[in-house]
Amino acid sequence: MDLNNKVVVVTGAGRGLGRAIAVNLAARGARLACVDLNEDDLRDTVARCESAGGEARSYLANVAREEAVTALFEAVVADFGGLHGLVNNAGITRDGLLVKYKDGELQSAMSLQQWQAVIDVNLTGVFLCGREAARHMIETGAEEGVIVNISSIARHGSFGQTNYAAAKAGVVAMAEVWARELARYNIRTGVVAPGTINTDMIAAMKPEARDRLVAGVPLKRLGEPEHIALSVRFIFENDYFTGRVIETDGGLR
Ligand code: NAD
Repeated sequence: MDLNNKVVVVTGAGRGLGRAIAVNLAARGARLACVDLNEDDLRDTVARCESAGGEARSYLANVAREEAVTALFEAVVADFGGLHGLVNNAGITRDGLLVKYKDGELQSAMSLQQWQAVIDVNLTGVFLCGREAARHMIETGAEEGVIVNISSIARHGSFGQTNYAAAKAGVVAMAEVWARELARYNIRTGVVAPGTINTDMIAAMKPEARDRLVAGVPLKRLGEPEHIALSVRFIFENDYFTGRVIETDGGLR
């Protein structure tokens, strides 16, 4: 896909990886619909997209809520006149061990609330946005479309992340299904699975835990959001790429 003038929705675009992805695609001439929960963050992303050379608008929507997602995609298509791309990037963590014992006593267990919060945003949100995006790409007659899901290497058994790992494995599965189901409409899919990237999510970790993470990366440094944006752009621009995962992790896996 030539990104010039293509309309792309990026969820969770208010900061971190989503912002870097939006700015990178804007620099290729894409028209960005930047989605998040916070208006101030989005204002900054829109300004950065514009100074990178693209057009951008902000949309407030919770990707976990069906009515909000339906209204979001209707608004985007009404504002831009079409839809060509979606990057499912919005995500949260609510970490905790499945069960934790000390001296034979149960100390804690992952709650259903912890489980459900992550599943709602990281899995159901991707399903809802993917479904609405595909509908509108087809119904507005887009000649080509691309859907990119942001997964994580955490899906391979990250300690304390039952909920997150399950959701991040699930978004790979969805991209594989959609690659087959949507190929007839010339809609491709792809997944980027970041390793440890230098964003607020990582900044919130304890320094010792962060140092341990860096030590485990063969390249001995954290990735930057721009590294993930580059992988996302590759999926958009490579017309023979569909249904597969790009692990961008400094060799961690
Ligand atoms: P972040 O917390 O900095 O940004 C996530 C953005 O998503 C925030 O702006 C937040 O407001 C938004 N968001 C959260 N819930 C939302 C909802 N319900 N509806 C709309 N927007 C919502 O996170 P990040 O580090 O930039 O991560 C972005 C994505 O990359 C996530 O899916 C995350 O799981 C994944 N990821 C990050 C890393 C990393 O190292 N940072 C590694 C692997 C995967």
